Amino acid sequence: KYKQIALPKQSKDELYQMGETFNEMIAQLKRNYEKQEQFVSNASHELKTPLTVIESYASLLKRRGLQQPELFQESVEAIHSEAIRMKELTQQLLLLARQEDQWNVEMKFVHLATLGEESIRSFKAAFNRRIEMKVEQDVVVKVDEQKLKQIFYILMENAHKYSEAPIIVIVRREADKGLIEVKDEGVGIPNEELSKVFDRFYRVDKARTRKTGGFGLGLSLAKEMAKAIQADLTLESVEGGGTTARISLKIDKTH
Ligand code: ADP
Repeated sequence: KYKQIALPKQSKDELYQMGETFNEMIAQLKRNYEKQEQFVSNASHELKTPLTVIESYASLLKRRGLQQPELFQESVEAIHSEAIRMKELTQQLLLLARQEDQWNVEMKFVHLATLGEESIRSFKAAFNRRIEMKVEQDVVVKVDEQKLKQIFYILMENAHKYSEAPIIVIVRREADKGLIEVKDEGVGIPNEELSKVFDRFYRVDKARTRKTGGFGLGLSLAKEMAKAIQADLTLESVEGGGTTARISLKIDKTH
């Protein structure tokens, strides 16, 4: 599709240097463009699946809904749940489409232990899942509370989806960093996949995750948000042995 534009490389003079820079810029643009193309294609594909289900049930209702009332409940439920899936996906896509400066970050002082407890409480209520919290050391960090909660929520959702045993959340300090760790003893992630799970739409086991309902966008969104609030997000995992997701934030020294 593209023609590689190559400037002459006869000598190591200025023109040659410029040519090198130019070629590197073009290669970078090409990589970005291809990534963008892949992203749009994945997003369209993911939206098409629920739309197809909605379309078939709606047409079934149109044709036979009046004669077969028992069809009604099943169709409405399917349409409703697929519409929810589409809404979730579009919400995530809109967030991912944001540029770095569009995140509206509001930094304020937050106790990690308090933030953890609040998030866990609402998570437990929504998912009815056992979560154990251990506060080794509470720390105060300066952070956007809402976004940190969103990241934390994504990590807890993953621990919930990919493990059976209780989830453990640890708040602690390491050197000048405050850490929140979400530990599970679930299926884990193979070593060679560990860096890829942050890619948009990447799922380790496509069949398994379709069943659990993910799009493969949670971790990439969490990573972008972490960048916006100056936090680090890393994963450690053993295939078959569980995963630890770690959010690390610089401790505020004035507190
Ligand atoms: P998804 O919506 O599919 O969960 P994510 O971006 O949150 O998307 O995660 C990408 C993939 O990483 C998941 O599909 C799953 O294969 C893997 N993964 C993420 N968290 C965990 C975990 N705690 N344990 C095992 N695998 C995980």
